Order: sequence, then structure tokens, then C-alpha cells
Amino acid sequence: MTIPFARPGTPAYAAACAGFDLAAIPTPALAVSATSEADVVAAVGYAAEHDLPVSVRATGHSPIPGVTGGVLIDTRALRSVRLTGRSAVLGAGVTWSDVLPHCAPLGLAPLCGSAPDVGAVSYSLGGGLGPFGRAHGWAADHVRRLRVVTADASVHEVRDGELFWALRGGGGNFGVVTELETELVRVEQLYGGGLFLPGECAADLLAAFGRATADAPDALSLSVAFVTFPPMAPAPLAGRFLAHLRVAHLGDPREAEALLAPLRAVAEPVLDTVRPLGIDEIGSIHADPVTPMPVACGGAILSAWDDAAMAVLLAEIGPTTPHMTELRHLGGALARPVRNAVGHRDATYSVFTSAYPGGPAEVQTAFYQRLEPFTGGRSLYNFTAHPDNTPADALRAFEPAVLDRLRLAKKEWDPQDRFRFALPFTPR
Ligand SMILES: Cc1cc2nc3c(=O)[nH]c(=O)nc-3n(C[C@H](O)[C@H](O)[C@H](O)COP(=O)(O)OP(=O)(O)OC[C@H]3O[C@@H](n4cnc5c(N)ncnc54)[C@H](O)[C@@H]3O)c2cc1C
Repeated sequence: MTIPFARPGTPAYAAACAGFDLAAIPTPALAVSATSEADVVAAVGYAAEHDLPVSVRATGHSPIPGVTGGVLIDTRALRSVRLTGRSAVLGAGVTWSDVLPHCAPLGLAPLCGSAPDVGAVSYSLGGGLGPFGRAHGWAADHVRRLRVVTADASVHEVRDGELFWALRGGGGNFGVVTELETELVRVEQLYGGGLFLPGECAADLLAAFGRATADAPDALSLSVAFVTFPPMAPAPLAGRFLAHLRVAHLGDPREAEALLAPLRAVAEPVLDTVRPLGIDEIGSIHADPVTPMPVACGGAILSAWDDAAMAVLLAEIGPTTPHMTELRHLGGALARPVRNAVGHRDATYSVFTSAYPGGPAEVQTAFYQRLEPFTGGRSLYNFTAHPDNTPADALRAFEPAVLDRLRLAKKEWDPQDRFRFALPFTPR
């Protein structure tokens, strides 16, 4: 079979390498935009025969290590979405934006993340934390079946066993997933959106956020981001330092408003988009950026609310801080034990930062160092991405016993470390 490889300097190569993260455009020796599972098998087989590393990407949202040399498999053309009852069968290149129009009219939703343009497969392999997480758990918990091309170019359909355990939370370390079947959840009512409050009320809002999340029902997922909006943002956000409270409530809007009342009492909002939402409007809750940009982000987790940690966060944020800073409430169904590799189910809050385009990324590193006494350096897999990740960074995303088991799975399924561009595990 002829493999449709593209070489540097050609439009097909540029198209295969382009992606959301403009700071991490890969530079492989060969790139292929796969249009079938057979293309993936052939590309992995070629890499095995020539002892080349393989990287696989969908949308390019993740800044996980700089890809140079080897074979890049671009999956964006594998875009099939098929609903079977309460499940969706997704091709490797599908984004959640592709899935939502299929399931929303049926009152069903996937466990998608804040940004529907993120790749559904990679997001789910890395755990997958979304606005329905407290009610329904991690996206990985809902994955029922995977088709994966492993390092020896063989195809496996997995629905149990060690590879299945490792793929659900252990990321793209074990092969190229060509198809993923995930459960959908029924959503009767979705109420949510954003409350944008003046940034000056950050201390009062954070205190109210702590109280609201201490006894929130699992139906309510809250997050707050402190953001200085660029001058080109729409009015009334343009150029302002604001606290963006993100709300997702599965249930009666009156119950949601009763839970939100103490947060609303903090200050008059500059903008209020909280309302009954269609399932396909889930992306409007966080309103993440959708145009490609340089991504430089960081993350950490807290096991519990800690006033001293919040003092570090408050000291970090302000109108001139060069990054957005988010605190997300976890717990609920996210803490439920499920047999897969998702790390840190005990986390109660996630801290996430993302540098504004052109902003200095080092500022985030210093921030996480100041937070380390409270986070223990731990973070969620999907938020551990960094271009300079080393095997030591994998320790941040998993409990030691989980990482040991992942390393054994890696040794069994990819002993040559062919797939070395995810958060790296050291084969033993
Ligand atoms: C704006 C933004 C918002 C985000 N919001 C959330 C959120 O709410 N919750 C959350 O959990 N995460 C979130 N993330 C993180 C996101 O889930 C991860 O970065 C994810 O890996 C992106 O997947 P992708 O396919 O879009 O990216 P890509 O860069 O294309 O892929 C990322 C990595 O996934 C692996 N991979 C991709 N496809 C395959 C495949 N077919 N088989 C095996 N491995 C594969 C590879 O290792 C690849 O390097 C967000 C990221 C951004 C930039």
C-alpha cells in the first residue's frame, strides 16, 4: 500500500502540521493526513520498520512536547460520528463540536470539556474534565470501547483488560486510537453561562466561591477565572480585569438561582449570560478562545479548600498579571472510584493558568512554585501539558501506584517508546 506521506515544504505537510497551538507547530520528517484506519496502520508499520517515533494529533490543542523528526499522523479527516442508543462512536479526529449537533436534539450530551473544539479522543484519553463532571464523572469513565493501532501496527478492539485500563486516563502513550465509543448522558435541563464581575471584588468572590462549593450539590459545577480581556474583546469586557464565574447546573433553574444568590450578592455583574441553555450551547459557559493561538498553560490541584492557598492565588491575580487564572470545583462524581488510570480523583479544586499571547510563561512557573506547599506539585493529566515535559512530570499527573502500572503497560505495548510525544512514561 502506498502511504500518502507529505514531506516538508509541501502544502499537504503544512496542512497536516497546522493546529490550534501556534507555539508548538510540529516538524516531523514525514506527515500523513490519515483518511482511514488502514492509513494509520500503514504509517505506524512504516515507522516500526524504519525505527522512527510516531506522533499523533487531532486539533493540536495540546502543547505536549515539541514534535521533531519521525512520523506525524494527523487524524482530523477521521471525522465520523455515529449514535447507537445511548452511545456515540467517534472517529479519531472528531471534536466535541462535531458530536453535539447529533446528540443535543435527543436530549443527550457527551462528557465534553469547556471548549467543544478540543479533540474528543485525546481529551477522553487524558481523563476529560467538563462542566458536567461533578454530576457524571470523567469522560474516561464513560468510554466503553476503543480501537487502537499499537506500536507493532496491529489493530486491537479493547473493552476490558490492561490496555483498556491504561488508555482511559493514561493519554496517548500506547498507540493511535482510531475509534472511541462513549456513553452519553441524559440532560433534561441545563442552566448556566457566565457572570462577569469587576476584578476588584476578587477576595469577596473567592470567599463566596469557597462557601458555595463547600456544600454544592453534584448537579452544580462552578469555576471562576480571573481574566484581563484584550482591547479587541467585545464591550463591556474589552480591556477590563474581571472575575468570570462559570456556571453549569443540571436541573431546575430556580434551584440554581438559589445556589447562586450568595455569589450574585458580591457585586453587580458587568455582564450576565446565565440562562437556560441548549446542550449544544455548552461551550458558551466557559467561552474559551476558539482561534488558534500560542498555548502556554499550567495546572495544579488542591485536595481541599485552603485559605492560605487562596491567599497565594489572590496575590497572583490582577489587571497586569500576564495570564488568566482559573479555579474549578471538582469532587462529586469525579471522586467516584472507577477502574481506569485517571489520576487524582481526590482533588477538590483545580487551578489552571493560560498565558495571554506574547505573555511570559515563566510567571506561571513561579506561581506554581508558590502554590506547591498546598498542591504537592500534583496536576491533572490534561492540564500537565508542557513542551518541555520529562518522564518526571508524569509523577505529577498520577499517584505512584498508578504510574507504576502505566509504565508496565507501556513496557508491554510500546517497549521501543515509539509513541513518545504524550506526557512521557519511561519504559522499564
Ligand atoms: C482552550 C483549551 C481548553 C481546554 N479545556 C479542557 C477542559 O475543559 N477539560 C480538559 O480535560 N481538558 C481541557 N483542555 C486540554 C485538552 O483536553 C488537551 O490538551 C487535549 O489533549 C487536547 O486534545 P486535542 O486532540 O484537541 O489536541 P492534540 O494536540 O491534537 O492532541 C493532544 C495529544 O493527544 C494525543 N492524541 C491525540 N489524538 C490521539 C489518538 N487518536 N490516539 C492516541 N493519542 C492521541 C497525543 O499524545 C497528542 O499529543 C483544554 C485545552 C485548551 C487549549
